[in-house]
Amino acid sequence: MPLASGAGIFAEGASLQGNQAMSSRAEDEIKTIVTLMKRPAFYLRRPATTEEAQDWSDRILEAERRAVALLESSPADRLALVMALLDTDVVGHLLAPKLVPFVDENDLPTLVERALNVRASVARAVSFLDRIKGRMGLRGSTKFEDVDSVLDEVACQQPELVPREYIEGHWLQTQMRKEDELAALPAFHLVFEDGPPLDHLREIDRRHPTWHLPAEGPSYRLGGPGQGWCPSCEQPLIHLMTLDSSLKEFIGSLPKLVLETCPHLFTKAWYQHDDEGHPTRIAPTEAEEDRYDHIPIQEQKVRLARTPKRWLHQWTYGNLFRLGGPPSWIQAPDIPKAPGTDRDMRLLLQIDSYLPDVKGGSVQLGDSGLLYVFWDAQTRTSCHFIQCT
Ligand SMILES: [Zn+2]
Repeated sequence: MPLASGAGIFAEGASLQGNQAMSSRAEDEIKTIVTLMKRPAFYLRRPATTEEAQDWSDRILEAERRAVALLESSPADRLALVMALLDTDVVGHLLAPKLVPFVDENDLPTLVERALNVRASVARAVSFLDRIKGRMGLRGSTKFEDVDSVLDEVACQQPELVPREYIEGHWLQTQMRKEDELAALPAFHLVFEDGPPLDHLREIDRRHPTWHLPAEGPSYRLGGPGQGWCPSCEQPLIHLMTLDSSLKEFIGSLPKLVLETCPHLFTKAWYQHDDEGHPTRIAPTEAEEDRYDHIPIQEQKVRLARTPKRWLHQWTYGNLFRLGGPPSWIQAPDIPKAPGTDRDMRLLLQIDSYLPDVKGGSVQLGDSGLLYVFWDAQTRTSCHFIQCT
């Protein structure tokens, strides 16, 4: 086993040999991962039996476990791993795009070049497959999706690296349209003082760099019961977060800004904030369905970490608990207007599902959704709504 011989060399304490051994061990590991992920021969011919499907999903999990272990190795090894996944005809189960956040920033251009080459060759293969698919009823290549997901992931992290023609007409274009304006907005990630809510996540998702950004400044109260009252459902509001005057870039001259929301929140609801920052819900003009019954988030303290440029546009991976910056849309972008105006509101707070709630469960916003709070400083109004899959 390469593992045993590698360990032997490390034990002798020769660091140069150790590094070389580590690198060849990574090479072996990458081969193993790719072999594990190669789709079975029957894949294109017929559906899998229950046992085959189980075996296949076990292999994918084992490949992912080995890939996670490799994240500790050198930047060159991490790049080699993603490249190998792109080069080989593997059904990636999104492993390749999930590894992109761990690729060194300096290696992203190399990765994009390779992805575009693979994409060009897959496009030819798919068109050939398409010709015979009609006659033989075969399923097409899913590799194309994986390569595109890798490019999407890079386009979020470093949009300038992905060719314009790739972005044209793509859903990412809507996200990127106001790049200059968005870049000027302050953006922070929430850092949980008692540790982030990661229990529901797979190991690879727990490692996402946005969970481990360095916090700065004071701490803020997140969750717990609210003080306001909802005139629509006649129940107490749920407290989301209170911002204080240290966050002037968001709240201007207000002494604080209290964000509280209706316990049946789903579609857009607007709140008017008074001179002290406290909210009063602007009564909805139409009757609302009580589709959801939200339980307050267990009160906890969060601090803020300034969002590095690479994580300004976040798709669906990593820490999506954010203050300011561009929203991470699950559905189509849906920027609300300040009441009675044509003015776009700005994202103030974004809350993900799975925080512990006050009853010992975990907060579900729709179905694993996100809660967005938009803000208009001029009218002192906030707009709250949820998007989910
Ligand atoms: Zn309500």
